[in-house]
Amino acid sequence: RRTALADHYAAQNLAAPAAMDAFWMPFTANRQFRGTPRLLASAEGMYYRDVDGRQILDGTAGLWCCNAGHARPRIVEAVARQVATLDFAPNFQMGSPLPFVLAERLKAIAPRPLDHVFYTNSGSESVDTALKIALAYHRARGEGQRIRLIGRENAYHGVGFGGISVGGLPNNRKWFGPGLPAVDHLRHTLDIGRNAFSRGLPAHGVELAEDLERLVQLHDASTIAAVIIEPISGSAGVILPPPGYLQRIREICDRHGILLIFDEVITGFGRVGEPFAAQRFGVTPDMMTTAKGLTSGCVPMGAVFVSEMIHRAFMQGADSAIDLFHGYTYTGHPLACAAALATLDTYEEEGLFTRALELEAYWQEGLHALRGKPHVIDIRNYGLIGAVELAPQDGAPGARGYQVLERAFRKGLLVRITGDTVALSPPLIVERRHIDDIFSMLGEVLDGL
Ligand code: PLP
Repeated sequence: RRTALADHYAAQNLAAPAAMDAFWMPFTANRQFRGTPRLLASAEGMYYRDVDGRQILDGTAGLWCCNAGHARPRIVEAVARQVATLDFAPNFQMGSPLPFVLAERLKAIAPRPLDHVFYTNSGSESVDTALKIALAYHRARGEGQRIRLIGRENAYHGVGFGGISVGGLPNNRKWFGPGLPAVDHLRHTLDIGRNAFSRGLPAHGVELAEDLERLVQLHDASTIAAVIIEPISGSAGVILPPPGYLQRIREICDRHGILLIFDEVITGFGRVGEPFAAQRFGVTPDMMTTAKGLTSGCVPMGAVFVSEMIHRAFMQGADSAIDLFHGYTYTGHPLACAAALATLDTYEEEGLFTRALELEAYWQEGLHALRGKPHVIDIRNYGLIGAVELAPQDGAPGARGYQVLERAFRKGLLVRITGDTVALSPPLIVERRHIDDIFSMLGEVLDGL
């Protein structure tokens, strides 16, 4: 494999690295990885190719982001044209046309009244931006004592200090000190005991929404700024809301003047058969954090959708006063905007926002046919999202999941694992034959465990 690798670098006119340890890989067992590297070299449509030229079916849209598939010519050309036309333009007290054009397009597909868009470069930045806007909103209205932020156990909201504070994954928090003060967490809704092998939303657990009332009683509503929730969590292991749960959270927030933020970083841009999960679930938050599918993953970009009510609260001072002291050098980057516009064109022209709904039943049948395979203790699905939960090996949590990742890759299938949960989220251009291939390869891997 060293030779194949060397050939690959040579073909690209790159000097092969002497070793692989200068790049400190994120969320990766770096030393283990160097022993059996999995290196993707190119991508097109539903497939990657690795450095050995082997075809790998993309079961995860990269990292839940390449919703339009890979290297779509219209997106590639839009980015190439843009970099040659206007490679960068500042957006602080200055502007360029594309961010304004894109914001109107995004507003048109978002639920009303989420009419304003703040751009970021990632999901993590979107989350921290939304949390800051929530705090500043209350302060702007004379309720600066509302500083408490409520997240959920087992939630993933990226890796900024705000995101890990409201997030609920122990490993992402415990190494990094106390995080933000005045944060609390609702219980999550994963309940394999009562809901194992549910098809679609789990029947049990709507009462867990009342946990928010408990925290309101504990802290007093007048101290709480916002609740942030993933309508469906992905990176935290695919956790689905029981029917009525999100509605109930919305009601409790309304009753107490608490803002509701949906983290739609993975559910946004068609993953569940509507542009956003808020629309599929019929619950409108006050803000939505997004990223990933916004550009189909090809240029980093995030966006926070903000309600008219929140935006208005910032527009009360003098016209000459800066209304939000927040932003990034790359906010509204021209390449990202060009990529996002071409991606939206692709989603709309190819009907990709409804594709997950059209394929949901077929996807569900294929996925649930894996029930009964060795070590499978739960299967969950919604839209074009799937999860296969494996019983952990004694004393080695995560080992079985890793084995599936490794063996699936060698077989020609990209899956995502978090612990012993195998997560699937194919590009929305997936066809039935790809779905058949995903589940047949995964089934063979599970049979061999
Ligand atoms: N929020 C959610 C719900 C996510 O799933 C993710 C990433 O998977 C993030 C935030 C962080 O996004 P990023 O990795 O782009 O910072």
